[in-house]
Amino acid sequence: MSDIFDGKHCSECGGDSFSITKDDWLSRTFKFVEDGQLKMCSKCGAKFLVCEQCGNLYTRIHPALETWEVSLSCPVCNTVNPEVKAWDGTSARHF
Ligand SMILES: [Zn+2]
Ligand SMILES: [Zn+2]
Repeated sequence: MSDIFDGKHCSECGGDSFSITKDDWLSRTFKFVEDGQLKMCSKCGAKFLVCEQCGNLYTRIHPALETWEVSLSCPVCNTVNPEVKAWDGTSARHF
């Protein structure tokens, strides 16, 4: 587990191998996942939103996501995803 999320390594296991994935539940729950692209860590299965600008990992996405967990900007190119920024947590339909 790496302490600082650098957008290139998995924040959970430090792995650097990812594949494009789709998750119906996550895209139904989070608008920015529906409009964006997801990558999954091939080591531990953690999922990340892909930065539209540079293709690196923007922020980790998981079912119990909280607003304080998402990146304010891409850790690699500093692009701000307006949908992630505007997200106030209410679009997460937990139940
Ligand atoms: Zn991982
Ligand atoms: Zn980026």
